[in-house]
Amino acid sequence: MSTLDADLDATARPVTDDGHEVTRAREAVVGSLPVRRLLPLRLRRSVGAWCFIDHYGPASVDGVAGMDVPPHPHIGLQTVTWLLAGNVLHTDSLGSEQLIRPGQLNLMTAGRGIAHAEVSPADHDPLLHGIQLWVALPDASRHAEPAFEHHADLPTARIGGLAATVLVGSLAGQRSPATAFSPIVGAELSAARDHDGELPVEPSFEHVLFVTGGRARAAGTTLAPGSLLYLPAGPDRVPLTAPAGTTLMLLGGEPLGEPLLMWWNFVARTPAEIQAAASDWRAGRFGAVAGYAGEPLAAPALDPGRLIARARRG
Ligand code: MN
Repeated sequence: MSTLDADLDATARPVTDDGHEVTRAREAVVGSLPVRRLLPLRLRRSVGAWCFIDHYGPASVDGVAGMDVPPHPHIGLQTVTWLLAGNVLHTDSLGSEQLIRPGQLNLMTAGRGIAHAEVSPADHDPLLHGIQLWVALPDASRHAEPAFEHHADLPTARIGGLAATVLVGSLAGQRSPATAFSPIVGAELSAARDHDGELPVEPSFEHVLFVTGGRARAAGTTLAPGSLLYLPAGPDRVPLTAPAGTTLMLLGGEPLGEPLLMWWNFVARTPAEIQAAASDWRAGRFGAVAGYAGEPLAAPALDPGRLIARARRG
């Protein structure tokens, strides 16, 4: 959550290692949970339509509240929740209530507007490890009706020593049932045994690859948690070495080609849209999230001048 301009680390410049772009996560805190924020970058706001990547844990949440993200609004995006360990309860203004566990996908389409909360349930597992992703909706779909999907049975494929689970889009001939509004892919790659080979990718997509557990070598670069490797469109395969037990995420898509204006939990195109969404949230027009014991999140102070300057920069 939160994409205020000040959060974007000016030092997060791409560094090249064997000619590839590798960036380091910024440390951020969501609720009381430290996260590695891998996207957006100042110089790269989106990869395909993926515009936000947080990776948190593994963290002990034994005997503490754990995840506690109070009700907050979204517009213009989909949120993707994926766990490697633990459990999280999602509730939203449509009335959805869904517990998620590792291997399952929670996909919320904000469209013109939705509010949700994500918390560790009262009797939660002692360990929490997961990722939170946003997909920007393309202009033609960004005012769509809000919706929520839970997928407990996602397609899997074997690629050498890797077990791939396809969250969104398709990989290695397997297609996810999750609703996508632009050509994208999201997949977890888990090394069931040592893998030393190639990963097939869609050549018209740009991609990022990051490790959620262990260490891997990809495209000549060593990846550990907190590193993000960017792979431009063109090649149809990526050299990848991953020892047994390593877990990675592959995210990609056709370059979106639309300038995004991101502020707090909103993905829009113009400052006026952001200001309208912030004022709608303050006025309670996103609808209530039932079952959360506490106050919703307040929107931060909005500086219209700064927003306009950022929109001009594109
Ligand atoms: Mn959210």
